[in-house]
Amino acid sequence: SSGMVIVGAGEAGVRAGFALREQGYQGTVTLIGDEPHLPYERPPLSKTGAEAESVRPIVAEARFAEAGITLFRGRKVTAIDTAGHTLALGDGDSLPYERLLLATGASPRRLPGLECGTRVHVLRTVEQAAAIREVMRHGRHLAILGGGFIGLELAAMGRALGATVTLIEVQPRVLMRGVPEPLALALQTRHQAEGVNIICGVGIETITENDTLVSIALADGRRIAADALVVGIGAEPNTMLAAGAGLALENGIAVDDRLRTSDPDIFAAGDCCSYPVAVYGGRRVRLESWRNAQEQGNVAAANMLGKAEAFDAVPWFWSDQYDLTLQVAGLSDGATATVSRSVSTEAEILFHLDADGRLLAASGLGPGGAVARDIRLAEMLVARRAHPDPSALADPSVKLK
Ligand code: FAD
Repeated sequence: SSGMVIVGAGEAGVRAGFALREQGYQGTVTLIGDEPHLPYERPPLSKTGAEAESVRPIVAEARFAEAGITLFRGRKVTAIDTAGHTLALGDGDSLPYERLLLATGASPRRLPGLECGTRVHVLRTVEQAAAIREVMRHGRHLAILGGGFIGLELAAMGRALGATVTLIEVQPRVLMRGVPEPLALALQTRHQAEGVNIICGVGIETITENDTLVSIALADGRRIAADALVVGIGAEPNTMLAAGAGLALENGIAVDDRLRTSDPDIFAAGDCCSYPVAVYGGRRVRLESWRNAQEQGNVAAANMLGKAEAFDAVPWFWSDQYDLTLQVAGLSDGATATVSRSVSTEAEILFHLDADGRLLAASGLGPGGAVARDIRLAEMLVARRAHPDPSALADPSVKLK
């Protein structure tokens, strides 16, 4: 038979391929990726440390064959014929499918009119990471546009490799999206202490590149001249295929709570799709997070096999900068109150509650694994739609359990 086909051999696609087997599927499984490499982990690409130096495969190559998963590398799917249940590949081949999973991920947002040349970079792939690390060595000056996770992690990596780093954020502070102000400011202060020059709340007038420098003219008249610039201003879902097939889109490929698209035989998972978050009454979001890609890969596989599994995970994200780890469980939008709990002198958890006292989210910042346990417990409270006593949350001597 034509079997199960997965487009996109990243975190979500690889997990779904193995999950099909774990759940007993015996037909053919084909995983198609347009990158030349064995599927690899993206988080290390922006993290300081040894892992960032080489490609870290998601699973060892031999496991694909062992699981009977056919992996196509370096091959792009260019169109879906939904009526004929067939995919077109860039090299002219076609491939039939019984059920299809779109796990196409996202691509870095670009600045309109700014080409990525030799001195302007974005970060999503292992090649782009290698090019950026090359600039960071030899004490050169790296400018970073965007104080999001990738920009901040790269700033820390740049300092570790001995670069001069200037980070420009047009918003009034870093991490405006998804991270509460006290934790964002704590991180910002740490970056400054590590020697990162952070400029917030100033617009960009022009960016120009010549043979030796990239020059960023700021709206307040300042000019930053750097050896290279990384543009880290977010990512856009890869929806070309879905759009060409006429699938419903809404900030990504729109799926329902079983990760089905508007075509009954096509599913989507990971960074490319938006889905209704059960724990917030079905509010639709698109997440760019490693664990979300994994969990959606698992649930999509179950539903491709005709099971009726609702996706109900609580959103979760982490970021590593210097020796600090930030973790966020849940979405704090709509929170009206924040309760702080000190885990230690260096580690803090913030709980975000709505007007009814329901715990919507928790975010924590601290060295190493200091906040992991409390965030894990908070995540369970969010999943249970709990209304915990705020004074108990604030008191470190009261166990969250
Ligand atoms: P991807 O991993 O992007 O995989 C999609 C794949 O599909 C890609 O290989 C793409 O080339 C391929 N593809 C697209 N279209 C086609 C086509 N038509 N034909 C064939 N192949 C196609 N998350 C965290 O939670 N914590 C972190 O600390 C963290 N750090 C990160 C650091 C970096 C530098 C980056 C880039 C991401 C980070 N993330 C982090 C996010 C996390 O890596 C993503 O959420 C995750 O990779 C999403 O998996 P995915 O399978 O949806 O997409």
